[in-house]
Amino acid sequence: VPNLFPALDVHEVIIESPDHGETMAGMTSGRLEQVLAAWRQRVLDLRGTHIRYVHIFKNHGVEAGASLEHSHSQLTGLPMVPHDVEEELAGALRYFAQKARCIYCDHVRDAGTRAVLNAEHHVAIAPPVPRFPFETWILPRRHASHFESEEPGALAGLACILGQTIRMIDQALRKPAYNLFVHTAPLDEGPLGHYHWHIEILPKLAKVGGFEWGTGIHINEKTPEQAAKALQGTLGESL
Ligand SMILES: [Zn+2]
Ligand SMILES: [Zn+2]
Repeated sequence: VPNLFPALDVHEVIIESPDHGETMAGMTSGRLEQVLAAWRQRVLDLRGTHIRYVHIFKNHGVEAGASLEHSHSQLTGLPMVPHDVEEELAGALRYFAQKARCIYCDHVRDAGTRAVLNAEHHVAIAPPVPRFPFETWILPRRHASHFESEEPGALAGLACILGQTIRMIDQALRKPAYNLFVHTAPLDEGPLGHYHWHIEILPKLAKVGGFEWGTGIHINEKTPEQAAKALQGTLGESL
């Protein structure tokens, strides 16, 4: 549905469940797959418009900025490519120019002790340089620059790993508030060899202060290896 208080031309709310009390962590993979299919379908519907970038995100919990309790995600259409995505695109292009490889494919391959979950078609990893403790990324194993290019059949596997990852974070960190978003290539670009779509999940544990706001540098006391190990420690209990 359109957002009642739109911040942009295109600002939609995806209501994830008919059940008011259900959270993403408690959803069946089937329901989560429907949420992902709705995200994908809305992105496809915005192709060929003036929208250059579709930002899909979810704020879970008051500390993460959620103003509604009922489980939902949001989709915004932007007439430009946002700064953080531009930066990822530019960095990935520099890497590609040097090594002729996608940096995200290398992250998938080299995750090692930073791997959180390994599924058939996707991985969840602690990124090499996380800004926040327990920052977790989900990426497709097969290189793809656009989220919406995922075949509808692949969304079941993605729903599965997304649900499992959120349950691990819930278990390890006692149901924290979190922000989740999709980073993908601009809508009006063809397939890119250097960029790789992914989901970033940022549990809201630390407050961002003047140092971070003023410098863009984040102090994170938890190494990605420690975070991945702590999340993996929940495997036996939650799955
Ligand atoms: Zn790649
Ligand atoms: Zn990203």
